Amino acid sequence: MPELPEVETVARLLAPELVGRTIRGGEVLWARTIAAPRVADFVQTLVGRRCVRVWRRAKFVVIDLERRGKPAGHLVCHLRMTGRLQVERASRATSPHLRVRLVLDDRRELTFDDVRKFGRMWFVETLDELFRDLGPEPLDAAFDVERFHAALESRKRRLKPLLLDQSFVAGLGNIYVDESLFRARLHPLCSSARVDRAAAARLHAAIREVLTAAIAREGSSFDTFYRTPEGKPGGFQDEFRVYDREGEPCVVCRAPIVKTFVGQRGTHFCRRCQPRSLNRGASARAARES
Ligand SMILES: [Zn+2]
Repeated sequence: MPELPEVETVARLLAPELVGRTIRGGEVLWARTIAAPRVADFVQTLVGRRCVRVWRRAKFVVIDLERRGKPAGHLVCHLRMTGRLQVERASRATSPHLRVRLVLDDRRELTFDDVRKFGRMWFVETLDELFRDLGPEPLDAAFDVERFHAALESRKRRLKPLLLDQSFVAGLGNIYVDESLFRARLHPLCSSARVDRAAAARLHAAIREVLTAAIAREGSSFDTFYRTPEGKPGGFQDEFRVYDREGEPCVVCRAPIVKTFVGQRGTHFCRRCQPRSLNRGASARAARES
């Protein structure tokens, strides 16, 4: 499922294709894709609005619109499992999984293709309600170690489900949580209340490092679903240290990577590098390094 780096890549690559283009028409081929307004009104509402900015918040792609030079709402898309947004020539938009097509003024189309059909699109006048419960953006300057540590302490939840919770921090999913916890040497079931200042700083740095590196590689494509709007796979799957590496040797200690389930989510980690007790981790490292 696309997470922050994949959605960021989609927004960045769509922007030069969409900015300045006006929506002239379109068609909804799968009604449930449209979350708001009513399906019958969706295309008609968008006609005549011009795309002025394409950006990302959490795992949402946001297209800011204007009409006669004034701000005129937002087209928002959540890709969920298999959604793909592309700008293509009308003749090319022939996929059997095409759910929505919006015709642009240069005769190309913004298409939304979605095999599993969990993806959603909205037109909203303001983003307040849709984004009300989202936590901070992990790459924003406002997301600092002090606030992150205080938030971890106050929640008293296991790290894996807490980091997946979009109201705690926005944009992380299964891959990048597992990769961040490994780099921070923290066990996925460790209680957030027990994460001390030093461990919080490690986790904060790991999250930013992993996300930044993944954006640089245009996300991760380990199955056939995620592709950039140019139709290319991402490259960060080549840098996975734990995710999708069950049974393979840990890149640090050579112990086999373990896969368990935490709240029904497949969770990959190294028992030796990410021990359950924070103190045991320190002594095990000291023993290895001596
Ligand atoms: Zn290890």
